[in-house]
Amino acid sequence: MATPMTPAQWRTALQAEGVKFTEYSNWTTRGRDSATGKTFGPVHGVLNHHTAGSNSLKAVAVDGAPALPAPLCHTFLPKTGIAVMVSCHRANHAGLAASNVIAAIINEKTLPKQNKATTVDGNDCLYGIETENLGDGKDAYTKAQYDAWVRWNAAICRHHGWGSGSAAGHLETSVEGKIDPKGPVEGYGSRGKFTFSMKQLRADVAERLKHAASWSPGTSSTYTVASGDTLWSIAAAKLGDGNRWQEIATLNGLLHADAIAPGQKLKLPPK
Ligand SMILES: [Zn+2]
Repeated sequence: MATPMTPAQWRTALQAEGVKFTEYSNWTTRGRDSATGKTFGPVHGVLNHHTAGSNSLKAVAVDGAPALPAPLCHTFLPKTGIAVMVSCHRANHAGLAASNVIAAIINEKTLPKQNKATTVDGNDCLYGIETENLGDGKDAYTKAQYDAWVRWNAAICRHHGWGSGSAAGHLETSVEGKIDPKGPVEGYGSRGKFTFSMKQLRADVAERLKHAASWSPGTSSTYTVASGDTLWSIAAAKLGDGNRWQEIATLNGLLHADAIAPGQKLKLPPK
């Protein structure tokens, strides 16, 4: 349970986490609170969506959808990876959520299958991001977009002192048959193309939260073995942790820790 972030807290958290963003007009006052008579909060988690469309900024910010007045999220994330803040108040994005899943999000437990018998209004308690993607299983999230997506989730979790278990996907909470988010991702850090999953997003958020907010996912590099090197000393010098020597051994298919020689080129994992 937590109090929704203020505009100043949003800006501070996003900037610290390295999320590039712009501010859509009136985002600090736009919301569904007075229209519904229900104030946003306390907040329990973060809900991730894909737009199932393109150029949806105006729709999610002001136009809304049929029978669904805007705002439709707190943040819109286009292919550029430059997020747009559209609201910090109550937004129409979550719909009805299964109570058993919300309870698991609060406790950061593995999310159960939705029990549709008991529901809550997810718009009461979840932050929402609409990430631009056609949702056709072919349209790919760009590398910049996915990187910003991970950072955005981590920024909120870090602000509230939450772990990655507070991040969920619409398909995990909805009792209305939602299937988002899904689709291919161009890459992340040193990782090549992969298929989006909430499991992977949570793992990437968890990895971010282990580091300082200023951290960036690394890229792998090559190192030429010098005289006197050991895998341990290379791991200590290049990865900041001698105990990571085993990762280097595995990455290079080395059967013995001493199977290196000066001049040999080693692949190093991201730092
Ligand atoms: Zn959705």
